[in-house]
Amino acid sequence: MEYQAWFQCIGECGEKHRLDEVVYKCNSCGGLLEVRHDIKMLKQQKPYYWMKLFDDRYLRTEWPYGSGVWGKKEIVCPVVDNDNVVSLYEGGTNLFWAERLGSEIGLEDLWIKQCGNSHSGSFKDLGMTVLVSMVKQIRVTGNWIPAVACASTGDTSASLAAYCSAASIPAIVFLPKNKVSSSQLVQPIANGALTISLDTDFDGCMKIVQEVCAKNNIYLANSMNSLRIEGQKTVGIEIVQQFDWEIPDVVIIPGGNLGNVTALGKGFLLMKELGIVNNLPRIVCAQSARANPLYQSYLTGFKEYHPIKAKKTIASAIQIGNPVSINKAINIMKKFDGIVEQATEDELANAAARADRTGLFCCPHTGVALAALFKLIEGKEIGPKERVVVISTADGLKFPDFKIKYHEKKLKGVESRYANLPVEVPAKYDIVRDTIFKILDKQLP
Ligand SMILES: *Cc1c(COP(=O)(O)O)cnc(C)c1O
Ligand SMILES: [Zn+2]
Repeated sequence: MEYQAWFQCIGECGEKHRLDEVVYKCNSCGGLLEVRHDIKMLKQQKPYYWMKLFDDRYLRTEWPYGSGVWGKKEIVCPVVDNDNVVSLYEGGTNLFWAERLGSEIGLEDLWIKQCGNSHSGSFKDLGMTVLVSMVKQIRVTGNWIPAVACASTGDTSASLAAYCSAASIPAIVFLPKNKVSSSQLVQPIANGALTISLDTDFDGCMKIVQEVCAKNNIYLANSMNSLRIEGQKTVGIEIVQQFDWEIPDVVIIPGGNLGNVTALGKGFLLMKELGIVNNLPRIVCAQSARANPLYQSYLTGFKEYHPIKAKKTIASAIQIGNPVSINKAINIMKKFDGIVEQATEDELANAAARADRTGLFCCPHTGVALAALFKLIEGKEIGPKERVVVISTADGLKFPDFKIKYHEKKLKGVESRYANLPVEVPAKYDIVRDTIFKILDKQLP
């Protein structure tokens, strides 16, 4: 069967484009585009057909359906030819039962969706596989795109570089000179991306990359590109699949540009339309208190929204004051009885460290989501019997400075309540033994 999908303006004008057009915004009204699917066609199959199809493919080897994203190809991006799919078998990530952390906070049924256990270490892979596949298809079918570019200090660059290098498509990453850490640089460099260091700040990079792309038919991989949302929306579908097609009560996700929370909601809505599920979870979007425009809008019942100037936060991937997907995200929050919660630097760092003590290894953004969870449980907005899923967006290993400085008690504005430094002891058996048991005895309940 031929399933169809296309870009459509989210505004009233409803302008449409093919998915293989190089277009990021509506030409008539300047509004954002989203990918629409031929729902009537998809609904010709019963819900059970989709559930069985997705289960049969899940984590198997038949190309490209073993990917968590391409296993759901018909409802993600049916117009890409299987030969043009660029996949590193993203998705299929662990849904971790956080039994110990849950029991500490009085929640029996707490789960962490480990999206950071992915190829380049963050959920960005879920969207990048769709974007880069589409670029490959465009290049193969005639319209020559010389490269794909983005301006990002972190996970987007890393993911873009990985997928482009796998597909042998040139990737260009624009970075502000002397403003990114070595761990932010190392992934695109290692994957062979052309990394351009500009004597400006991040916004300056964004401006240049847009101009370079527009004038040279280079494909822009920024968050305005709604192909990425199609891949990212599989996260909610996969969680439900992992629960044997049952909806959890609450899903908590950190938000910056708000593409991911939009994608999460879009996946759930599609499952409901197809009859795979009958109800929807509550969605909680968690923001850094230093970059919280959605939270401030939430406090007005979403009646008002003002972009802000984001302040520096440890949760660097969500340090965004004027999110691209604000309108889409507010629509989603309204449909999902949404809650927005915020976390201070102290709260996010200690939440991550507390979770680490129970066997996790959380990035700062996951710390923001966990801190929001702790607050909502304390405020009784989430009850002890509810099934809660926290979306972990990146691997903690990508943020070594954050982890080390936390335990050295060197993070500004953070009181490191779970610091655990090495104990220095002379190499003498008696002293070593005494030291070990002095500490173990203290830790006994
Ligand atoms: C990109 C990113 C986010 C934020 O996602 P948005 O779609 O911008 O809201 C959160 N955490 C990590 C680790 C990210 O890389
Ligand atoms: Zn429009």
